[in-house]
Amino acid sequence: MVSAESVFNPLARQIIYEAAGQRCVGCGRADPLTCQHRRARGMGGSRLLSIGHPANGVALCGSGTTGCHGWVERNPDLAALLGWRLLPGEDALIAPYWQRVWGWRRWHQCDDGFVDVLYVDTDEIPDLVDREAAIETYRRDLDERIARYGGVRPDAGLKSQR
Ligand SMILES: [Zn+2]
Repeated sequence: MVSAESVFNPLARQIIYEAAGQRCVGCGRADPLTCQHRRARGMGGSRLLSIGHPANGVALCGSGTTGCHGWVERNPDLAALLGWRLLPGEDALIAPYWQRVWGWRRWHQCDDGFVDVLYVDTDEIPDLVDREAAIETYRRDLDERIARYGGVRPDAGLKSQR
């Protein structure tokens, strides 16, 4: 059986969740929340950053098959445009990610050891047109999910199916 255990330690998880306001960065749901690995284990971690660093994480609802986490698994290319997944060579501390409430953000490693998130101006976003299109697709898929499974918990009823 493959373990779904996260490589994030409790502090890293706390930082990831707090940076997201304890909500899914995509749909705003608070539960169930997971830390998505922007770069998965075994995919060649950054030379600069351990795979368990908070900058390698983003808070998403659902599981590998449900919610926004499931959407990322089904739409890896779009998820990369949203920064919820990192492409080979992308640096977790540089690659921006989209957050529903605050827009484009970027992780920042402070000199004192703390990790923070910064707002990113759209002028600084590469491939902005493609990324905006990815946001539109994500929003449309989310609307469909909500219409199908209910407005409050888009993946309600799916959990027992696994
Ligand atoms: Zn979500």
